[in-house]
Amino acid sequence: MEAKYFKNFGKITIIGTGPGDTCHLSKKAVDAIREADAVIGYSTYLKQISSILNESQEKIPFNMKDEIKRCEAAVKKSLEGKTAALVSGGDAGIYGMSGLLLEIIDRKSLTGKIPVESIPGIPAFCAASAAVGAPIANDFCVISLSNLLTPWEDIEKRLRAASAGDFVIIIYNPKSMKRKEGLTAAKKILLENIDKDRPAAIVKAAARPDEETAITTLENIDKFDMVTMNSTIIIGNSNTYVNDLYMITKRGYGNKYDLDNTLNFCENETDGGKIKI
Ligand code: SAH
Repeated sequence: MEAKYFKNFGKITIIGTGPGDTCHLSKKAVDAIREADAVIGYSTYLKQISSILNESQEKIPFNMKDEIKRCEAAVKKSLEGKTAALVSGGDAGIYGMSGLLLEIIDRKSLTGKIPVESIPGIPAFCAASAAVGAPIANDFCVISLSNLLTPWEDIEKRLRAASAGDFVIIIYNPKSMKRKEGLTAAKKILLENIDKDRPAAIVKAAARPDEETAITTLENIDKFDMVTMNSTIIIGNSNTYVNDLYMITKRGYGNKYDLDNTLNFCENETDGGKIKI
């Protein structure tokens, strides 16, 4: 009896919609969104994926801080036997909706009863990295400066640990309407362990039509108007350098191999095309 009842729960798919443009969604993500009876999410993300939604689908948009309501809407649809797609920007498991949904389902002892599938998305830091070259390339960490759910003291502790560990440091949520001073405070902490001239990149709206990038130094990360809640900042490690176009973190190939002695065929080519294929 119970098993039959549970069979009637609709599936909830948690889908990372990537950094912006729908061309970055996986085929599996697009199929899951199209197949859902109801698509639930932050209104901005629903707008971003509007081109792949169809008329017959129920769209349930929510405001920014309504994360719990979004989970409740997804569970409600599931209990009605409908399939729900809960969409979340970037990857849904990174500061996204996955954790909260699974936690809420767990609290109500519905784990394993409601079918849940997570479909990964491209995180914004990957799009930001791609926009400026290869600044990550080695061990890295992501730190959000939002103290809405994490106490500021913990954020400070993580900034100190990351900079002491020579990680490439990715900063999410560098600024919001209400929180303007956090980035300067974070910069001061990073400067305790990192040189002021360390390369840093700022990428606003990565993979969106209004994408903007700047390559600068740690000392200047808080001096750009393009730092908003839609920006990601990447601070290099001690092996990061900048050329005319790119920010590049050397992974160590140059220590192990003779990189100067590569691409020799290029010289042959300019030597009169001696290359034989
Ligand atoms: N789940 C998302 C992160 C959500 S936290 C992911 O996987 O990336 C929100 C933060 O992500 C923003 O404050 C911003 O720092 C960053 N972000 C999200 N989309 C972005 C984009 N298109 N360009 C640059 N940064 C972005």
